[in-house]
Order: sequence, then structure tokens, then C-alpha cells
Amino acid sequence: MTTDLYTKAANAILNSKYTTGFTGAGISVESGIPPFRGKDGLWNKYDPSVLDLDRFYANPEAAWKLIKDIFYDFFGAAKPNDAHKVLGNLEKEGLLKEVITQNIDNLHQEGGSTVVHEFHGNSQRLVCTKCAKSYKPDSELLETLPPYCECGGLLKPDFIFFGEMIPQDALQAAYHAAENAEVFIVIGSTGEVYPASQIPVLAKENGATIIEINTGESLFTSSITDILLKGKATEVMDKLYSVIQQQKQN
Ligand code: NAD
Repeated sequence: MTTDLYTKAANAILNSKYTTGFTGAGISVESGIPPFRGKDGLWNKYDPSVLDLDRFYANPEAAWKLIKDIFYDFFGAAKPNDAHKVLGNLEKEGLLKEVITQNIDNLHQEGGSTVVHEFHGNSQRLVCTKCAKSYKPDSELLETLPPYCECGGLLKPDFIFFGEMIPQDALQAAYHAAENAEVFIVIGSTGEVYPASQIPVLAKENGATIIEINTGESLFTSSITDILLKGKATEVMDKLYSVIQQQKQN
């Protein structure tokens, strides 16, 4: 029964001319980065208002201390896991066009994906709020907080804070994928974060087959998911990848 689902998913991917990966915090849990929501979520430990733009500008030093703690000291040490790497391999084999990610941890790129649309930005870039120059968040730059640009402008992580707009290029790429993809592989996303949550729904409306990988159930599961591969992202993606390789031989 379970194997049938894997074969079905593998064949859908092998027969698709356009497959998109769509990922949320769940894909990075096994790299040691917890999700925001849920029992062990970061928002049980930290106050979400750390990502409030007004608070950031009102007191950048205090905001930066918390941001450094969470997103650089803690996230910074994470390494890509097998689920990220399988997506990278699928892209190399021509079986995956791109990844649309809500994550900000840069682990898709480190895992071998080259076409990554970052819906919420990336923590591994800092951007000057005055001249838009981009910096890498190395320890030297984060030694004195808040960090400043050489032009004197305040540096901000290049991920979106509450109320900020989704980057235009990522939004356009996501709509393009939702219109054109034949298969959408949705990994580790609750489907609760708007507007990202609308992308798989649009893809489904346009005829895509939705393969979902999650340890639990999401808002997608009973509404749009065609094939649910339940389990940890690393285990499911490893198994799916080996079934794809077997099916290729047939
Ligand atoms: P989310 O919408 O990203 O959902 C997390 C989902 O992952 C849940 O449905 C959960 O059941 C599932 N999950 C947990 N462990 C899993 C595993 N090992 N394998 C497969 N699925 C697993 O939830 P969120 O954390 O509230 O995210 C809010 C927003 O913040 C999202 O945009 C998210 O991407 C972002 N975020 C990013 C990071 C990161 O960059 N790594 C971390 C936390 C949150």
C-alpha cells in the first residue's frame, strides 16, 4: 500500500515535464531548525514581535540581539539534510525545475539546488536599509550590534518581517510555477502562512498533481493533496528517490 503510493509519486514525477518543489519549515527540522508554530516551535520560546518592523527600527540594538541569537548563532550552524540534497539531485537529473521555499535558511542552495525562489528572503544576506548594499552575516560584522553599512545605514536581515511585501521576483516565479507545473511536491508546510499557502492551491486549480510530504496533516492534506507520503522529510525523500531510480530502469 505504502509502496504503491511511492511508485505512484515516482511515476508522476518521471512523467511530468514541469515539477516544482514547494517547501516550508518542516524540511529543515531534521537539520536542527525548529518550525515557528506547534509544540516545539520557536514562537513558544521567543516573542514573534522580534520580527516586527516598527520594533526593529525603534530599537535596532535590542531587536538585533534577539535576531542574532535565533537566526545566526542558532540557525547558522545548520547543514542541509537528505531531503534538501534529494531536491538538488532531482534538479541535476532534469526531474525538478525549481524550488519555491518559504524558508530563509539557505539550506536548499547548500544542498545543491540552483534554482531557488525565496518567498520570504534569506537570512544569509544582510541588506543596507539606506543604500541596499548586500553583506554576508559573518561573525566580524555581527560583533557589534546593530551592524551598519559603510554608508552609515542600518543593516537588516534580507528576510521579510511581519507586514513586509513578498519579493516580486519570487512572487512572479511562484505564479509561473503554479500556472505551468504538472507536479507540485509540497514538503513540510502547514499551509497556514498566507500568501505562500495559495501557491499550491493555484497549482492544483491549474491541474497539477500535488504530492505532499509531512509528518502530520496540513491544511493542504484533505483539500488539495493527491498523494500523501507521510513521514519525516529525509526518510520519505530518500525512499522516493530510490523508487524513482528503480522506476527509471523499468
Ligand atoms: P510551516 O508552515 O513551515 O510548517 C511546518 C510543517 O512541517 C508542519 O506541517 C509540520 O507538520 C511539518 N514537519 C515538521 N517536522 C517535519 C519533518 N521532519 N518532515 C516533514 N514535515 C515536518 O510552519 P512554521 O514554522 O509556522 O512557518 C512559518 C513560516 O516561517 C514559514 O514560511 C516557514 O517556512 C518560516 N520558517 C522558516 C524556517 C527556516 O528557514 N528553516 C524555520 C521556521 C519558520
